[in-house]
Amino acid sequence: MDSHKHLWLLVLLLLTSSLAWAAPPIDIHDGPVNLNDFRMAYHVDPSKTLTYEQVRSLPFTEINNKASLGTDAKVTWFKLLLNNNTGVEQKLFLHLPHAYHVASVEIHEERAGTLLRRAHLDLDAAPVSDLMYRGTAVYPLTLAAEQPTVLYLRSHSYSHQWFAVDILDEQASRRALIGVNLDIALMVGMLLALVFYNGLLYFATSKKENIFYSLYLISGLVWIALSYGLIANIFDVYGSQVFRLNISLITMPIFLLLFMMAIFDTKRIYPTEHRCLQVLLIFLSCTLAWGLFDIAGALKPASTLAAVMMVVTFSVSISLYRKGNPLARYFLIGHSFFVVFNGIAVLFYKGLIPVSYLNSHGVGIGIVLEALTLAYIISHRIRILEDIRASQDELKKQASTDPLTRLYNRRFFLSEADYLLQSAQLSQAPMAVLALDIDHFKSVNDHYGHACGDQVLIALSHSLKQHSRDNDLIARFGGEEFVMLLPDANLEEAYRCAERIRAAAETLQVRADPDAAVHITVSIGVAEVGVGYETIETALSRADRALYQAKHSGRNRVSTDRPALETLQAV
Ligand code: GH3
Ligand code: MG
Ligand code: MG
Repeated sequence: MDSHKHLWLLVLLLLTSSLAWAAPPIDIHDGPVNLNDFRMAYHVDPSKTLTYEQVRSLPFTEINNKASLGTDAKVTWFKLLLNNNTGVEQKLFLHLPHAYHVASVEIHEERAGTLLRRAHLDLDAAPVSDLMYRGTAVYPLTLAAEQPTVLYLRSHSYSHQWFAVDILDEQASRRALIGVNLDIALMVGMLLALVFYNGLLYFATSKKENIFYSLYLISGLVWIALSYGLIANIFDVYGSQVFRLNISLITMPIFLLLFMMAIFDTKRIYPTEHRCLQVLLIFLSCTLAWGLFDIAGALKPASTLAAVMMVVTFSVSISLYRKGNPLARYFLIGHSFFVVFNGIAVLFYKGLIPVSYLNSHGVGIGIVLEALTLAYIISHRIRILEDIRASQDELKKQASTDPLTRLYNRRFFLSEADYLLQSAQLSQAPMAVLALDIDHFKSVNDHYGHACGDQVLIALSHSLKQHSRDNDLIARFGGEEFVMLLPDANLEEAYRCAERIRAAAETLQVRADPDAAVHITVSIGVAEVGVGYETIETALSRADRALYQAKHSGRNRVSTDRPALETLQAV
């Protein structure tokens, strides 16, 4: 029984001491003053109506400076006790670096139990106050020698209570005010670079996903610059002046959805997923319309929608991944960055995890990491499209060439020849065709085997290319028969070309085995095309007739058919 009594006494003692508990004083010593790591005390006012006179008799709870107290602590009083131990009066500056983030701040300076001075900063009013400098509230205060000063700061935030105080001497204050948030500038700079890069890609490819991605990036960078104070710092605007820019929080998911639809081509390939994204898009568009008129009101459903969106986009990308979409994996990775870092940030905003750079900057880090992964997806997609184009080109080439000799086949030759004939007609240029057949090729196959015969065909093809001009059209018509179309060549020039080819074929050597070389000869028929009154087919049949003559008059020779006009007149 006695021990029980002791326990109760101890609990009571602890309770009363915690109520009376105030943070330890902040000691100011000789030398430079640059304090931001100290304890203070806070009291949340859910009623939002407490006055300084009322709050000073209420209990405060100890907390570290640079606190995050969540969205339920919209109005919070902070209490700091400053002890000047230097023996002389100290002129110091109180900085609130996150002041751009809040709706209003009140500062009450108390000495020896009486209110000395009070200042009020209303960021919704314009002009705000002389105390506001580029997003930071700066309050000069004079600490009497050896006399404690108590500060009561009332911070009224728009959303979550993210609070920090710096106590600085004049030099440190000046330095703090000229410094730009380099880290945030770097994040925004990276996103801006991606926007420009994407703009260039759009001009090159005209793919709409580049536009959606750029708009997503712009929304992201506006939000980062706004909520981490870069806009306040650079443009000296804050509070209600820029509150509308929070619309970026709604446009960001909209452009991400549009980007997803475009890059995965959901409309065409994944209609079910497409419908899910469409429904979400409709809700977001309604919120956007609302936000254009009442941004403060629209932000509430927007954050719920953002959470729903993460679930939907995640499910959709998992579904696409399981269906084997090659880009879905990277999208999942990028989106995971976004979700994880946003999750951390939300825990921080709710006051559930302590202050750290990563925790307080989670959203920004998440956006940047996701943006980089999406950039990778865009480049990956370009590579996939390039591969498809290359294989299409290869197919086209395969369809138009002969696999053994890599010369054009009959089909390609005839269609291309028709086209060349038309241009010859326009330019009134002559044109000729050759028909070539290897002599006694059957005996080459019989003596040395089919494989060796193939080598002969390949060697002859090289020789044909070598002894013709670049714009001559050469084709293997089948077996050991070749045809050539010579633009800008009359009968005489074509004959000379054919003679060159025949002579070269005679000197060709194909090794059948180490001791034996195969020699061949060819017979060629030449005909000049009657440009303007003859088709390629009839010209080829005249060349064939000449070839037949060459064969009959002993092979290894070139024969010409009579010019087409003479043939016509002879009929
Ligand atoms: P000619 O001088 O009268 O032209 O006599 P030839 O032996 O060349 O007669 P023909 O044109 O009838 O013979 C063609 C031979 O070409 C028959 C066939 O075995 C051979 N041949 C056709 N295509 C190929 C091929 O792709 N590879 C090989 N190795 N031989 C082929
Ligand atoms: Mg032959
Ligand atoms: Mg033949």
